Amino acid sequence: MSFASLGLSEPILRAVAQSGYSTPTPIQSKAIPVILAGRDVMAAAQTGTGKTAGFVLPLLQRLAGGAEVQANQVRVLVLMPTRELAIQVGESVAGYGRYLPLKSAVVYGGVKINPQMMKLRGGIDILVATPGRLLDLFSQNAVKFSRLETLVLDEADKMLDLGFNDEIQKILALLPKKRQNLLFSATFSDDIRQLTGTLLKNPVLLEVSPRNSAAGSVKQLVYEVDKNKKPSLLSHLVRNKDWQQVLVFCRTKKGTEQLVSKLKGDKISAAAIHGDKSQAERSRVLTDFKANKIRVLVATDIAARGIDITELPQVVNFDLPKVPEDYIHRIGRTGRAGSQGEAISLVNADEVKLLYAIESLLGRVLIREVVTGFIPHHQVPLSRQLKLGPKKPKKPKKSWR
Ligand code: AMP
Repeated sequence: MSFASLGLSEPILRAVAQSGYSTPTPIQSKAIPVILAGRDVMAAAQTGTGKTAGFVLPLLQRLAGGAEVQANQVRVLVLMPTRELAIQVGESVAGYGRYLPLKSAVVYGGVKINPQMMKLRGGIDILVATPGRLLDLFSQNAVKFSRLETLVLDEADKMLDLGFNDEIQKILALLPKKRQNLLFSATFSDDIRQLTGTLLKNPVLLEVSPRNSAAGSVKQLVYEVDKNKKPSLLSHLVRNKDWQQVLVFCRTKKGTEQLVSKLKGDKISAAAIHGDKSQAERSRVLTDFKANKIRVLVATDIAARGIDITELPQVVNFDLPKVPEDYIHRIGRTGRAGSQGEAISLVNADEVKLLYAIESLLGRVLIREVVTGFIPHHQVPLSRQLKLGPKKPKKPKKSWR
């Protein structure tokens, strides 16, 4: 099964390919044709199943085929329970829709409302919102729903757990009766069933188990850290996580050598491969690494590309690549059949632009963590929402103030 066979158009297929996905996940194969056909959907799907692309891709396609959005109108509304989830979905929308002339935005509470009102003026094709802020925006006439085509309630169980039922009911009352509805929830409690009963019309029911890690999936994480602490953080991780075989990427030859000295100083067996090493040296190092005689292999992108190292449990980006596509090559080294691979990037504040470029290529934000004892003094800010589409928003005919 390929994405193309699901009926998706070329600009979407191109963006999907850039995210590094070759085959649709089960929820995607099931949901995409049904959503493209305009049906209501009730899906039991957890995070990790690929459900976001499962609804974003077909909705982008439907939007691209329809009429242009009008001032302050929204064509697809995605309700999310938290700001973090809203941002993540917003990044996915921006990434998958990057070759389409559509506008997307994310709105959530806890920040100034005015910039959000400005953004909504020209109308938005896909708006990702948390319920409270959306109602505030509506009460200030910043957003209209009379042309709404599709409503998505994502993480519906979480939404009810957080006490958003009243807000959801208020929002539902504002929407046109004729519309497509999609509901995603990890669990189906009585409360959810009650909600689906009033919300969905003749829905298609979809159920999938969480994505199978035996397929060789890669867990991706970012550790925020100050630049000067990166070498000691790496030693700490190798020891504490008991990594036995880890491939570490460095940008420069000098960097690989310095890191190997540091690791050896910390009594961790390590070796470097880069362009200045002879072929014989490289082969020897590689054989030792494969035989588990060397725990850490530190490589430059070019050196690693020329050699057959695949199916590693652990890859570390000691520094981020200058070219975002190299990130995909690097993490492609991990993901062993039967177990989940892990790709960890050590990122300092100076690398923030490189990180955004990678996240934009992936179409999503990477999960951030910090390690006790290595909490950075210089934070790595979250990427600002990516803007979609080449078109400039049209000026509204009249001001709503
Ligand atoms: P989600 O369940 O939407 O939160 O997605 C879980 C993860 O799966 C995200 O990291 C996606 O980038 C990734 N993903 C989504 N679709 C695919 C696919 N077809 N192949 C590989 N990874 C995917």
